[in-house]
Amino acid sequence: MTQAAIGIDVGGTATKGAVVDAQGRVLARAERTTDPSAGTKGILSLLDDLSAGLDVAIAGVGVGVAGFVDVRAGAVTFSPNLVYDDPHIAAAVANHLRAPVVVDNDANAAVWGERCFGTAAGKDDVAMLTLGTGVGSGFVVAGRILHGSTGAGAEFGHTIVDLGGPLCTCGLRGCLEQFASGNGIARLAREALVDGSDSAILDFAGGQTITAVHVARAAREMDELARKVLRQAGHALAVGLSNIVNVFDPDVIVLAGSAVHAGEPFLGPARDRLSLMMTEQRRRPVRLDVSVLGDDAGIIGAAALVLQPDPSRRKT
Ligand SMILES: [Zn+2]
Repeated sequence: MTQAAIGIDVGGTATKGAVVDAQGRVLARAERTTDPSAGTKGILSLLDDLSAGLDVAIAGVGVGVAGFVDVRAGAVTFSPNLVYDDPHIAAAVANHLRAPVVVDNDANAAVWGERCFGTAAGKDDVAMLTLGTGVGSGFVVAGRILHGSTGAGAEFGHTIVDLGGPLCTCGLRGCLEQFASGNGIARLAREALVDGSDSAILDFAGGQTITAVHVARAAREMDELARKVLRQAGHALAVGLSNIVNVFDPDVIVLAGSAVHAGEPFLGPARDRLSLMMTEQRRRPVRLDVSVLGDDAGIIGAAALVLQPDPSRRKT
């Protein structure tokens, strides 16, 4: 019988689940809109959807959650957009399905997925930035997931790239997330248009709130203002990437998330500025890859937590 694991990815908007085999292939999948007040109950109902009619042996369940996670207890300690009345996810899932359970932060699961089955396969030092609505990040250091002392580490989106910059949701000013995320790109565009400048961004937005998607579309049409905004976002991303290189010296940095779809007008300036910064420091070039697992990095990564356990857990 095929050996497989279930991976669950609990995001702010969607909760996704998949049955994943030992080679990282998705055998079955399910998805629900995340009910912010459902907490652990949302995970259990998705598990019911997935496990109905399964004919594979399930080695365990991996759960990636947007928030701070106490990995030893398998519990959520803080989640910005979700309410966990019952934060002890591991215990609840184990009771429900009678299978081993591993819980981790969603960005940690994603980088583990890339390291086990994605573009960073076999690499022991990997950084991953997910440039979506915000900026998520995960790090594999010497073959282990970086958790920090309380599970609140590896939040690279909230490192500061502009002293006194715009206020971030975390309470600080000038975080990387304010520039290199979808929300950050949209903010830069709105600011650039405040003086009444003309841009195809306004046509694509059609009177609605400007988003990063409108900016990316306008940039593809060679709109000068949109390309300038994406250059600005790309240069801020380069500062973040340079900071990663200086701290971690990774084999590869993996980029993922919806903002990556803006493509070369965003990623080109980031790559070029990073290259200049590294040349100045006489560093060797670092590999910068776009995720190959894409939107499945979360579910495949959560399953990978079971299929190829992170060695740091064996300490407990
Ligand atoms: Zn922040």
